[in-house]
Amino acid sequence: MRDDKSVPPTPRRPALFAAATLTVLCLGAAGCGGGGSDTAQARPGPDGTGAASPSPARTAPSPAPSHSGPASAKHSPAPSPSAPDAASGPLSGKTVVIDPGHNPRNHLHTAEIARQVDIGTTHKECDTTGTSTNGGYAEAEFTLDVAHRMRTLLKAQGAKVLLTYDNDRPFGPCVDERARIGNKAGADAVVSVHADGSAVGNRGFHVILPAPVRGGGADTSLIVGPSRDLGTRIAGLFVRATGSAPSNYIGGNTGLDTRKDLGGLNLSTVPKVFIECGNMRDPKDAALLTSASWRQKAAQGIADGISSYLNG
Ligand code: ZN
Repeated sequence: MRDDKSVPPTPRRPALFAAATLTVLCLGAAGCGGGGSDTAQARPGPDGTGAASPSPARTAPSPAPSHSGPASAKHSPAPSPSAPDAASGPLSGKTVVIDPGHNPRNHLHTAEIARQVDIGTTHKECDTTGTSTNGGYAEAEFTLDVAHRMRTLLKAQGAKVLLTYDNDRPFGPCVDERARIGNKAGADAVVSVHADGSAVGNRGFHVILPAPVRGGGADTSLIVGPSRDLGTRIAGLFVRATGSAPSNYIGGNTGLDTRKDLGGLNLSTVPKVFIECGNMRDPKDAALLTSASWRQKAAQGIADGISSYLNG
């Protein structure tokens, strides 16, 4: 979810329409939900602040059927010469970095995550706590679970997969560090996984693409194009895997949004997108997000999008 201090962490407004205005998207490298950080800014409207609206022309990409499944191939009784194993799979030689948004223990380290970090164009909080469902399922638990499922799927195709953290640190990483991890790995693709914390009635997923940004240590000029390709493939394949519709409150039903206020995107030098898999504050979306079988589908859709992008 997008963090924004100026917005109450749990907007449970019954109304749908105010939606975009009230939304607390949480993205960014930091947080949605409870207080958020990287993403933290109340969006004034669907195309509010600086967040460029996505090009309607790039709607759901046609799902590339190409990567249908090396993983299951190994169970085929027929000795298919093309059945790849992890070492020689279609993503062999590719590096994917998965960034699970927030950290389940960020709320215990409020001072540390409130520290301002340089995101090139401005400064933002190191990280945010993220949002949660009304039942208490934390966004940070969701993102880590989906990241693990994605890792399994991508490694089975031969990719080298790194996580920006894996329950191995008390808080963070900060948004700038999350970006640097992908850069230092020379990642071929990076996806930051999130779930939103918006008003009831706001439903669906959206992928966030980097806007053209230049300033300070930020320069996205080389990643805007490939990131859009990555993001559109993920959006299309997420629909196919989960059956979920694109967001009804951001992106004009394209499932795509573009932002220039996220440090995790601004500081990336490799193709990178965020995905808000659903709205944790909407009961219907929350029922999906808390379902392990749905999370597997979500992970499959994102991994399929990455595979499609990397396979060209
Ligand atoms: Zn988030």
